[in-house]
Amino acid sequence: MKFQSTRDQSAAKFSAAQVIKQGLAADGGLFVPESVPQLTKADIEALCGMDYPARAAFILGKYLSDYTADELLEDCQKAYAPTSFVGGAAPLYDLGDDTEVMELWHGPTAAFKDMALQIMPRLLSRALVKTGETRTALILVATSGDTGKAALEGYRDIERIKIMVFYPTGGVSTVQKLQMQTQLGDNVNVTAIYGNFDDAQTGVKRIFGNADIAAELDKNGYFLSSANSINWGRLAPQIVYYVSAYCDLLTAGRIAYGDKVNVTVPTGNFGNIFAAYLAKLMGLPLDKLICASNKNNILTDFLRTGTYDRNRAFHLTMSPSMDILISSNLERLLYFVAGPAKTADYMKQLAETGAYTVDAETKARIDESFKGYFADEADTAATIKRTMTEKNYLIDTHTAVAVSAAAQYRKETGDSRPMIVASTASPYKFAADVYTSLYGEKAESDLAALDLLSQKTGTEITYPLRGIGSRTIRFEDVVDATEMADAMFAYLKA
Ligand SMILES: *Cc1c(COP(=O)(O)O)cnc(C)c1O
Repeated sequence: MKFQSTRDQSAAKFSAAQVIKQGLAADGGLFVPESVPQLTKADIEALCGMDYPARAAFILGKYLSDYTADELLEDCQKAYAPTSFVGGAAPLYDLGDDTEVMELWHGPTAAFKDMALQIMPRLLSRALVKTGETRTALILVATSGDTGKAALEGYRDIERIKIMVFYPTGGVSTVQKLQMQTQLGDNVNVTAIYGNFDDAQTGVKRIFGNADIAAELDKNGYFLSSANSINWGRLAPQIVYYVSAYCDLLTAGRIAYGDKVNVTVPTGNFGNIFAAYLAKLMGLPLDKLICASNKNNILTDFLRTGTYDRNRAFHLTMSPSMDILISSNLERLLYFVAGPAKTADYMKQLAETGAYTVDAETKARIDESFKGYFADEADTAATIKRTMTEKNYLIDTHTAVAVSAAAQYRKETGDSRPMIVASTASPYKFAADVYTSLYGEKAESDLAALDLLSQKTGTEITYPLRGIGSRTIRFEDVVDATEMADAMFAYLKA
């Protein structure tokens, strides 16, 4: 299987190892597979008899044909080991009314980014060997919280790779800060900067764009790489859990082979829901994909009107991982429904004017699979409370947006097919807002909210967050944004 850019009509082709190492295509587009491999009925029956790591290796093998089956199985067994995903990689929780919550947060950082970031570093490590790279990759990340921690856990102690994460010292929650400051591993560094997330991101971009820095790194045997969510190595592993959930429903006798199910996904960068679309293109019997947004409802508007317009206010919400105005992976959907020429044109308009409108044919093709709904802050809080009161089930702020969107879809359309709702974070990861949504009062602090939530709901704190307040702090440095490159070289020389 080869890959090409979403914007490239000449369609230059690259191997999976090349695209995982490179990340973004040279023309600014995203890498997509040249064709979509199909899942046959026999494939799905075989997958039903496998555990999660074997399912993952099988599906990844359809795309990563330059990796051997043994390599993929070994990596998937390590990535999705029961010691790492306690309680299963993507277990389903039956919420009643033919609604299944797919819990994607049992990994080491309690959020769904682990599903991709536990496996992607292993794929990158092999890609370095496969492409004849002799230097060590230095992963640089600017984070506003979740991605940094998930990347640190994923790259920790992976061969031929080091990782350095910058975060704004006042711009992350107490729990997020502690998660990063106490990070284990011999190849990791965490440095805070004075300033906000934009300062951190701009600083990282400046380092990536500086030829002198690249030359200095090269002299020392390093090159820079990113853990970006648009990397194909992060997208492919996300296809797996949709197939896996379908198999689990089949095995449990909840559906018969061929029965179509719907999926609702709390969406930010459009990566997770795009993976569901690929699963559908591969032949998995999925019908509607419901795109759930928070108050930053640019995708809801796009799916209803066909116009994507980022010229609008940006809102900070209690589901911060969905606070986004540019959903990068939407470009991959455009490629599949409109082709590379139109995609390049839409992306050019987006860069120049901040907006584009897809043509009627493209809109119709998107409508075949997608519907968009959003939940504002009050709706999100009410959904957390209602789900606890009526179903005795605790959900986080992002999952609540999805649960609300799924209910809106059913009410509007009357469609009663089985629904899989992607749950993307443990409620304990966003304990303070979950607590306030349930009890109408604020906890004294983030850390206090963890314990209070556990006591009052009678549920256990998710394992990666237990005892977080008493771990040893390893990383306390705070630097000016102008000193980030110096901090990086200091880390490499230490
Ligand atoms: C990243 C993230 C999302 C959004 O996923 P996309 O793939 O960017 O659409 C939703 N919820 C949580 C908790 C996340 O961390």
